[in-house]
Amino acid sequence: MTLGEALAAARGQIDRLDARLLLQYATGCSHADLLARPEMPVIAPAYAQFAEWVARRVAGEPFAYLVGEAEFRGQVFQVSPAVLIPRPETEVLIDLALAKLAGLTAPRLVDLGTGSGIVAISLALECPAAQVAALDLSADALAVARNNAGRLGARVDFRQGDWFAPLAGERFDLVVSNPPYVADGDPHLALNGLPFEPKMALTDGADGLACIRRIITDAPKHLKPGGWLLFEHGYDQGEASRNLLTAAGFKAASTFPDLAGIDRVSGAHL
Ligand code: GLN
Repeated sequence: MTLGEALAAARGQIDRLDARLLLQYATGCSHADLLARPEMPVIAPAYAQFAEWVARRVAGEPFAYLVGEAEFRGQVFQVSPAVLIPRPETEVLIDLALAKLAGLTAPRLVDLGTGSGIVAISLALECPAAQVAALDLSADALAVARNNAGRLGARVDFRQGDWFAPLAGERFDLVVSNPPYVADGDPHLALNGLPFEPKMALTDGADGLACIRRIITDAPKHLKPGGWLLFEHGYDQGEASRNLLTAAGFKAASTFPDLAGIDRVSGAHL
């Protein structure tokens, strides 16, 4: 089997770009190698890996879980089925958080439900003055996040627990979260590889606002005066989020769109 033959066979079954990238991951060849030397033989173990990945991709498994990594804000994060795969729309949360941190000396922030750690680690790397804590209920997710922080050289204080539970008595300048916000039974959960992702990271098992309600209710006990809460949510949850924030005593509740123009992040301050 040559590189060219392997690629041609896979292209009939999966997306062309996925096929090429999987062949590169399996063989260690570059895109230039594939173009310049399609007659190069693929050694048996590499071909076996490639064929296995193609079959799993045909069955709908997300690309990131096959190769065990995904990119976010220019950094490569390791992922496993214990964590949600990074989504580009979460960049909005990072940009808004950085804007709130600007000008504060040694701000304290916490990321609730950190998963692979992308939010906490990106903020730690991009705002080195910040003291960053991150928590998750899942020990498996925390293992992935700790590994990512170590590999990327980010200083993050990871803790295990249910939302604010491990933070009794602590106050922050900023609380950020990308919580599960898809409603139970939403048809979206059956599409686009979502069945392979951790259910606890996607849905609250209720109306989609259960975790958001909990975070908003408990955040005032953990924010300094003037501190901000920012969280990601679904395209139709902006108004409900602002109402919940205002009812909990927050000021200046606002909603911000992602790069696709969809309502994606809401926030307010004490
Ligand atoms: N944006 C994700 C999706 O709809 C959901 C992420 C989340 O629940 N935090 O696929």
